[in-house]
Amino acid sequence: MVRTRFAPSPTGFLHVGGLRTALYAYLYAKKAGGKFILRIEDTDLERTVPGAVELIYRTLHETGLHYDEGPDVGGAYGPYVQTERKQLYLDYAQQLIKSGDAYYCFCSKERLGQLHENGATKYDKHCLHNVPLKEAERRIAAGEKYVIRQNIPAEGVSSYVDLVFGEIRVDYNDLEDNILIKSDGYPTYNFANVIDDHLMGITHVIRGVEYLSSTPKYNLLYDALGWERPQYIHLQPIMRDAHQKLSKRHGDANYEDFIAKGYLKDAIVNYIALLGWSPKDNREKMTLAEMEELFSLDGVSKSASIFDEAKMRWLNSLYVKELSPQEFHAKVLPFYAPYAYLQGLDLAYLSTLLHGRTEVFTDVGKLTAFIGAFDDFDTTLYTNAKWKTDAALAKQMLPALIDIADKQWESLHEALPAYAESAGYKKGQVLWIFRIALTNAASTPGGATEMATLFGKAESLRRLRYALSRLG
Ligand code: GLU
Repeated sequence: MVRTRFAPSPTGFLHVGGLRTALYAYLYAKKAGGKFILRIEDTDLERTVPGAVELIYRTLHETGLHYDEGPDVGGAYGPYVQTERKQLYLDYAQQLIKSGDAYYCFCSKERLGQLHENGATKYDKHCLHNVPLKEAERRIAAGEKYVIRQNIPAEGVSSYVDLVFGEIRVDYNDLEDNILIKSDGYPTYNFANVIDDHLMGITHVIRGVEYLSSTPKYNLLYDALGWERPQYIHLQPIMRDAHQKLSKRHGDANYEDFIAKGYLKDAIVNYIALLGWSPKDNREKMTLAEMEELFSLDGVSKSASIFDEAKMRWLNSLYVKELSPQEFHAKVLPFYAPYAYLQGLDLAYLSTLLHGRTEVFTDVGKLTAFIGAFDDFDTTLYTNAKWKTDAALAKQMLPALIDIADKQWESLHEALPAYAESAGYKKGQVLWIFRIALTNAASTPGGATEMATLFGKAESLRRLRYALSRLG
């Protein structure tokens, strides 16, 4: 039974890279008919941000990455929050001390700083060689602060096979005796990930490539504890551009921010899936259920992917087009709220005009900005080379257009062309002048009569009269 996990640290918003790791772990498990588990890695107390755990739950539920086991859903391998498992790590660390695979260390910050200054690139095993176990135990009983370090062999090469990157070989000499248990009694990631992945029965560890070269340390721990090593799948980072990683510090790389910008969750998940994986048929638009069918490690990239918001917008626009008019209206409605100039308009009708023109919901700001900018009327917009119109022609025509709007409001759609015909103008000339007078915008989400319908009779007349007054 395949068991994968997503093991975020609750340090803030759920970043696009984290969500992708969760997605791949979810897809890998689903494809194999296995289980997907959520574990909260919160042993770095200083980095824990209040509310971040709830945000992780909410995002995974919202995006459909339902976990079979986790802190808020339970399961047979809990607790699924590392701070609730504190004693357990200490017990295993003590077992490793007995077998010689770990040791107590009392070195002060000053001594470690000194080592560093003297050019050492890693800890020098001072306490392993100079503090016998009996003495260490006495010092601890007397209340002295300590950490527990992993005892990495001084020489030799370790190797393992990563399912994406192939064989990885690391010289033990390049690895440090890292801390397993910190002076606050909590484990480091380097220790807790091993204990928990084993105890939670994780078969496939899927995580960022930053752990690729420290995995040999983890393998030593599995070996020392007599446990079977899991399979590893490391994922290349998502880049902002050719040089910079998309980082947590970049506010716009968060799931929540994309939602706030007006992306649909399904489009976000779909786009994120493509950042490091492509299905055999190179399909780009896929539902989560389709991805569950198609996911496979051969499609996982060995190189980094560049986050391309233009492509994500395009993908989002496909999802927006698929919404029914009612769904579109319900989803876009909150995005009208910041624009006071929309108050009083028929927003459901506005939605029908904007639906086909919206790629992400915040586009509605730009698409409707002309409505609020009307009073700064620019009369040069009457000038249209194709229709041979200008402000002078508008001045000539507008009194009649105002009259038509007033008296034939219900049949404007027919009345405007009929006026063109009887007055000897081209229909395009009349419609252009009418629409510019009504909106003062070269392009609008709809034609002359649609704009009139949007504003309603009273506002349309106010606008047309104001437009005429601006012609002097
Ligand atoms: N807590 C680690 C992180 O957020 C998880 C790494 C892993 O999946 O093992 O980077």
